Amino acid sequence: MFGLNRWWKRVDKVTARRQSKVKRREPIMVERLEDRVLLYATSGNAWPNSQLITISFMPDGTDLGGVTSNLEATFNTKFGTAATWQNQILKAAQFWAQQTNLNFSVVSDNGGALGSGSNQQGDPGFGDIRIGGYNFGNSTIAQSFLPPPINNYSIAGDIELNTGTTFNVGTQYDLFTVMVHEFGHSLGLNHASATAACMYATYNGVDTALNADDISGIKAIYSAGAARTADAQEANETTAAAK
Ligand code: ZN
Repeated sequence: MFGLNRWWKRVDKVTARRQSKVKRREPIMVERLEDRVLLYATSGNAWPNSQLITISFMPDGTDLGGVTSNLEATFNTKFGTAATWQNQILKAAQFWAQQTNLNFSVVSDNGGALGSGSNQQGDPGFGDIRIGGYNFGNSTIAQSFLPPPINNYSIAGDIELNTGTTFNVGTQYDLFTVMVHEFGHSLGLNHASATAACMYATYNGVDTALNADDISGIKAIYSAGAARTADAQEANETTAAAK
């Protein structure tokens, strides 16, 4: 029998169903502090226009590729109002923005099928990062797509939550905690090996803030100026990353 941790990691692999054939490489340490090794992992992917990354909520019925999104109905029933759960999600995005030059803006979503747009960024029909969900039928909590260039069309950055999972605010599975992790992927981070990091592969309790390792990781991708160019590293994970 797999331990929970290991089992989740296994799910990670299984659900990376849309992964491209990218050579796996050891994570590259891009920075080293005097007395400890940084354990974050960048994917080599980043939003070209980090000054304005748009977010949208997919309407229910959005085609996710053989299944349709039911996030709104599921979460409205669970949380009472759309504002309650959407605020948790947007707060998670904002925690990353506070550390870097990233700016997020919420836009409307026309319900076009997942990945139906050719634009990596700035599609007029929906956000750069689209959020939807369906019942995965397994124990994976959520999955997300890395930003360009590995995903070079509108699927880049999109996040799917498993609506078969019981989400909560402040208790397992804490929606904010899960979304901080998924936005990390959507912004270009892979899993961190630090257990305290929000980007650790396994849900291990409620996070209320980014860990120092997460902050170092996002700053390594997005500096105070323009987004770091993504040519120095290949992606070392997959296009779809499960929590
Ligand atoms: Zn993950």
